[in-house]
Amino acid sequence: MTDESAAPAGLFAPTRAAALERVAAALPRLGSAYGRDRNHDRGLGEASTVSALSPYVRHRLLTEHELVSAVIERHGHRAPEKFVQEVFWRTYWKGWLELRPQVWRDYVADVTRLMSSDEHPLPVDETLRDTYRDAIGGRTGIDGFDDWARALVTDGWLHNHARMWFASIWIFTLRLPWQLGADFFLRHLLDGDPASNTLSWRWVAGVQTRGKTYQATAENIARFTDGRYRPRGLATTAEPLDAPPPPPASAAPEPRPLAPGRALLLLGEDDLHPESLALGGIDVVAVVRPERGAPRGPGRAAEGVQAFQRGALADAGRRAGEHFGCAESVIEEVRASELVALARTHDVSRIVTAHAPTGYAADALARASAEAAADGVVIETVLRGWDARAWPHATRGFFPFKERIPALVRDAGIGA
Ligand SMILES: Cc1cc2nc3c(=O)[nH]c(=O)nc-3n(C[C@H](O)[C@H](O)[C@H](O)COP(=O)(O)OP(=O)(O)OC[C@H]3O[C@@H](n4cnc5c(N)ncnc54)[C@H](O)[C@@H]3O)c2cc1C
Repeated sequence: MTDESAAPAGLFAPTRAAALERVAAALPRLGSAYGRDRNHDRGLGEASTVSALSPYVRHRLLTEHELVSAVIERHGHRAPEKFVQEVFWRTYWKGWLELRPQVWRDYVADVTRLMSSDEHPLPVDETLRDTYRDAIGGRTGIDGFDDWARALVTDGWLHNHARMWFASIWIFTLRLPWQLGADFFLRHLLDGDPASNTLSWRWVAGVQTRGKTYQATAENIARFTDGRYRPRGLATTAEPLDAPPPPPASAAPEPRPLAPGRALLLLGEDDLHPESLALGGIDVVAVVRPERGAPRGPGRAAEGVQAFQRGALADAGRRAGEHFGCAESVIEEVRASELVALARTHDVSRIVTAHAPTGYAADALARASAEAAADGVVIETVLRGWDARAWPHATRGFFPFKERIPALVRDAGIGA
């Protein structure tokens, strides 16, 4: 039986050093072998067909720029084309949601409406509770699905194909609301990301690319798990769910140069490589590190996810203190009262931080910014060139966006 709050076994150390070690180990297989084998789920470890770098990329302990540079340097432009495209899926999803924050707000409202508000929430609709409990506890009797539910809770990570099969079975065979599956993933994945997760679940359900669903079949699962699983009784149809069309894209955020001056540097869980942020003429007088990450939903994030967030923030705080040659102050979480008090202690009226993309952390930062401004402390955000150049192109589907990848790579100064 699976305990929903069990801690992952620590397969991912929450440090930049661990991220760099994993890059070095994975690099040889991220060229043409990745393009050929990546759909096969061979788990984590030696036989893995993928990089398993997502917890690091998610928190930018490792930047997309560094990762794409490393694979192109190792393999040239052509062989890692598929890998580079996958990294840009992340950039695309983040841009797509950034241009349509209402889709995020609707998801948050849906989860709040569908789930009870306890520490270990259950569906409000009591008729769904048994199925839901069985699904998250790995007790459905569906071959593969139960192992993936358990692996998610113990490891905090699943292969992309397993995520697709899991979501499809959740929605079309178990007939559970997709939002509850997305919430379960977000609270247990170490790479749990508001954009990649919400939009992938929408995609499987047929509400992202409207009318087009993803249907898991026993044959496909058997083929890409090398025969480990061949579930019986999967839904034979996958009718798209009903949902309103997404709102039109709004304007992408634009980078704003920072005026020189003294400021605090606030770390945020979405961008934990402050050493490479473009801070211009800012004199960082202190690094402010929230002790814990933003929530991942109305229920509690899994212990392992919380530990990863805390560890990653602590790692970034240590590095930032050394890099900027200043002290580190720890606050409990991103809240105006603590930020304003620290600004006063250091006699500054400015706090700079990386742009927080649409999601729970951005919601917390927006609240803190509005309240701090009322107390005379301004929070200014720094948008990375990677996002600023790519996000304006996330207006339509991935395929027109994909055409832009070679130019985006070139404009990032990679492989010149
Ligand atoms: C239902 C569902 C939920 C998902 N939820 C998340 C999530 O919360 N966070 C998350 O980072 N990814 C999510 N993904 C995308 C993808 O499954 C993971 O990024 C990938 O499995 C991570 O493993 P990896 O690092 O070995 O990827 P690799 O194949 O080695 O790819 C390298 C990097 O590219 C990015 N990437 C690869 N594939 C995708 C993709 N399809 N979409 C977006 N980025 C991608 C990741 O940053 C990844 O680390 C989800 C996919 C599905 C189908």
